[in-house]
Amino acid sequence: MSLNTMTIVQAEKAMAAGEISAVELTASCLKQIEAVDGRLSAFITVDEEGALGQAREADARRKRGEARPLCGIPVSIKDVLCVKGMGATCGSKILEHFIAPYDAAVIEKLKAAGAVILGKVAMDEFAMGSTSETCAFGVPENPWLAGHVAGGSSGGSAVSVAASEALASLGSDTGGSIRQPASLCGVTGMKPTYGRVSRYGLIAYASSLDQVGPLCRDTADTALLLQAICGHDRRDSTSMEMPVPDFTAALTDGMKGARIGVPKEYFAEGLDEEVAAVARRGIEALAKAGAEIVDISLPHMPYCVAVYYLLATAEASSNLARFDGVHYGFRADGCQSLIDVYEKSRSQGFGAEVKRRILLGTYALSAGYYDAYYKKASQVRTLIQEDFTAAFKQCDALISPVTTSPAWPFGSGQDDPLALYLSDILTISANLAGIPAMSVPGGFSGTGLPIGIQLQAGHFNEEILLKTAHNLERELGIGWRPAPVA
Ligand code: GLN
Repeated sequence: MSLNTMTIVQAEKAMAAGEISAVELTASCLKQIEAVDGRLSAFITVDEEGALGQAREADARRKRGEARPLCGIPVSIKDVLCVKGMGATCGSKILEHFIAPYDAAVIEKLKAAGAVILGKVAMDEFAMGSTSETCAFGVPENPWLAGHVAGGSSGGSAVSVAASEALASLGSDTGGSIRQPASLCGVTGMKPTYGRVSRYGLIAYASSLDQVGPLCRDTADTALLLQAICGHDRRDSTSMEMPVPDFTAALTDGMKGARIGVPKEYFAEGLDEEVAAVARRGIEALAKAGAEIVDISLPHMPYCVAVYYLLATAEASSNLARFDGVHYGFRADGCQSLIDVYEKSRSQGFGAEVKRRILLGTYALSAGYYDAYYKKASQVRTLIQEDFTAAFKQCDALISPVTTSPAWPFGSGQDDPLALYLSDILTISANLAGIPAMSVPGGFSGTGLPIGIQLQAGHFNEEILLKTAHNLERELGIGWRPAPVA
């Protein structure tokens, strides 16, 4: 077995037994990046020297008997998270030359555990998108089928894990950006509960929705990476002071006593037949594992897309005001006045989709429209949250598709932003409700593209998600499969 296709669990076992070293493991990932990333464009920055240095340090720690989980495990990081001394472009020209002056909280935790940071990976500009095509520094390609999107916005994260360049990755999820690319690329992705993971050092998109989370090769690895990044952090006022359970201990066999809900609104018209079939196989698998299957309705689902795109753009317009040509990154040349600096730097630095969202969001927040748009959307958000609260009185977790179709060819959504917004319909409700959600590989389309299954649970109930995912994996027999790249 080549080292770079190992799961975290396998690699840790092999390192603990002295069969492989962190340096060998890291070198095999770097070799794979060298071989395939010219075509796949998952990485924006590769830190070969730094990674090998961290791997040597991890090997030394292990020799001293000080290895903790993740020690010596090579990971990639979405370019929206700050890693001290490395670029953090957010996929945008406006941050092209920005070097992060500090580590994000999750990076501090990974470094403390001894993980190896291979580099920073591609994403839609400021995490706004569903295909990673708005990235200013190369567009990641789906490693399962040439010419197809990887999904987004954490497209580089998903590709790097699927294509055996990194054992795991950290992404961010505001409306599906971890789960959707995970589903389209055949890896496992989790958006933890809002407040579970500190966002200190995560460049903000929409602060009431953003969460950091893992993209991994299977459920056991997801439990390990989640364990490493969770916990209260006083530098993020939304991070909750909650006990962090032992997530690996949650991965027990059998679903007896669990009630799994099937939300009928997620199986509505317009859903691809193959995607629906995979989700149905998932439901059967959980029933076979002993779960009771119950029908659920989330009546406010039809309003999700409208609510999300009002709230997310409104928050983005405010968050992105800081990129003004003065504080961070790009400043336009030849400016005559301060206003000129703002106008030219923002016009030239931001891409079309980001500008569209800033305009939309500014409009929704403007005097006279605030009540009609932002306030109304916030009220409907509460109704959506109440739907989930009611649902989790009837069941422990929900099962559904993640996306409405498998990956599609590059360019197909470009002229119609609304069609792309609508494609987020199955993932954004979890962010609006603040609940944890996961995408687990469920099957393949006739054309060989992966299809995921989504699981959602109540606040701070990541354990039932992981347990359900683990049982799906066992029953369906679809664990980690490396994408067939050279
Ligand atoms: N596709 C959604 C959007 O464009 C979600 C993005 C995300 O989760 N960051 O906003």
